[in-house]
Amino acid sequence: MGTSDVCSGCGLGAGRQRCQDLFTDVSLRVRALAWTDSLKTWRLMHDVYALQHPADLCTSYAELIVHLGGVAWALEHDGSERGHRALAQLAARPDWQHAPYPPAPGWPDGRGSILVNSLETLSEPLLLVAGIDRWARATWLAYAPLQATARDWIQQASPITPAGRR
Ligand SMILES: [Zn+2]
Repeated sequence: MGTSDVCSGCGLGAGRQRCQDLFTDVSLRVRALAWTDSLKTWRLMHDVYALQHPADLCTSYAELIVHLGGVAWALEHDGSERGHRALAQLAARPDWQHAPYPPAPGWPDGRGSILVNSLETLSEPLLLVAGIDRWARATWLAYAPLQATARDWIQQASPITPAGRR
């Protein structure tokens, strides 16, 4: 298989288009099932997918704050809408326009050991929630060099964190 068959973002062997199609398919499935809290799962999967394809989906500081901050918010806090809104407000500040992008030390070489194809056959809410959580944790781990930066954003987006406690 030539390099043209590999997704440029996450490295999925099936290629970039097939990767995108798989993501769209899973995303529609989550939306159609619409269980309690499915919006959180839907949002998390979009944030994770963006982090695995930063050249296409994290093209500005604002997008990175929303997506990387969003994953941090979902995994380390409660993933509430309130927090996502605060992160979006932080991202909208003009402060980032002149900041070097991507922030040091840059994109991680690997994007995580779990890719979107791990969700391909999941069709029940509980399995999708668990599968997307696993996928998110693997991607968050791949972004370890930027985790401290993401936690800073969450602090700056306060008062979304209760007195800064974890
Ligand atoms: Zn991909």
